[in-house]
Amino acid sequence: MALIEANICRKMNREDFPILKQQVYNRPMVYLDNAATTQKPQVVIDALSGYYETINSNIHRGVHYLSQIATNEFEVARRCVQQFINAAHDYEIIFTRGATEAINLVAASFGRTYIQAGDEIIVSEMEHHSNIVPWQFLCEDRGAVLKVIPMNDDGVLDMEAYEKLFTAKTKIVAVAHISNALGTINEVGKLTEIAHAHQVPVMLDGAQAVAHEPVDVQALDCDFYCFSGHKMYAPMGVGVMYGKERWLNEMKPYQGGGEMISNVTFAKTTYNELPFKFEAGTPSVGDVIGLRKAIEYMQGIGIEKIRAHEEELLHYTTEALAAVPGMRFIGTAPRKAAVISFLIGNSHPYDVGVLLDHQGVAVRTGHHCAQPVMDHYGIPGTVRASFALYNTKEDADLLVKAVIKAQTMLS
Ligand code: PMP
Repeated sequence: MALIEANICRKMNREDFPILKQQVYNRPMVYLDNAATTQKPQVVIDALSGYYETINSNIHRGVHYLSQIATNEFEVARRCVQQFINAAHDYEIIFTRGATEAINLVAASFGRTYIQAGDEIIVSEMEHHSNIVPWQFLCEDRGAVLKVIPMNDDGVLDMEAYEKLFTAKTKIVAVAHISNALGTINEVGKLTEIAHAHQVPVMLDGAQAVAHEPVDVQALDCDFYCFSGHKMYAPMGVGVMYGKERWLNEMKPYQGGGEMISNVTFAKTTYNELPFKFEAGTPSVGDVIGLRKAIEYMQGIGIEKIRAHEEELLHYTTEALAAVPGMRFIGTAPRKAAVISFLIGNSHPYDVGVLLDHQGVAVRTGHHCAQPVMDHYGIPGTVRASFALYNTKEDADLLVKAVIKAQTMLS
């Protein structure tokens, strides 16, 4: 029954994405680069153009009609995100440009407030560069030390090693909910519990999780949760930093400018209340409204149903690819999202990617902004196929067919 339902929803949903109706190289387009960015359903595209056609104006300070409507829509979107990740308060939702900016915000503001020379920050070996470099900036500025949770060859974090990293100097843990390079779903509840037992807060990078797994920040009990809209069917240019009120109240602002102030004089500036304290300047209002539409769209299908559908595709595709001669999977954790990283024999991932592209199959090749992961395996990169709610078994079959052809041509 679940399968039949998933099949029906599969057919329905694909139609919602106009870009997928195109052909590339006179072939149906098989879009499997969803970990990089997802395509947008018509409702999101309409919301974006509708915003510019009818209510575009600057928000919060305007007394006029359009500004009031746009402000209201913006704040409705904030409550929609709050409910989507089950945050306790709407003012714990801070809009950013994306996950990268959200993580930089946490690193900079938390860092300015709490980190001193000799303090320690824990990240993991499987982080995206966005969750490494901002912490390295902070370490350089403050004389702090970055410590790394190792992973095993399946791409699973070593929890024993993790526990041993804590000292009295540990100030924050920052870990991916789901790895973009390996697909590993980390045990983020457990990671958080261990950190909290040491009175250390946790930031989760949810960029690869929010479109694929139900996320409940109160159940996870994480202190910060960061993600991008464009990986969850929303427009580019919008993201979210969730933070627990107690931290956000204490933390110094990230950027200075309009909106984030309460009163400015040359002698002293005071800051606005939450969430505005962290939202300097004009936000991307249309994109925020698009984000709300994307959330409502996913909720209309059901995030649990999306998860089950993608999991089915993951198993189906992995099994079929395993039969290709020379196939080597990179990332074989028992709990995985629908991200399949692989190499074929000694072929360079770029060559495989180009051959797949010419058969209409869009995948990503390279280090996926996770060079330490590639260093772990001693490889330059991988070929990565990543799935979304609109992908089908036909897409998986075309991928496998294209991979077999590429393998034959390269061997
Ligand atoms: N973290 C992870 C795990 C990601 O996959 C990405 C995007 N590839 C990011 C952070 C950064 O997201 P963005 O480029 O949208 O800011």
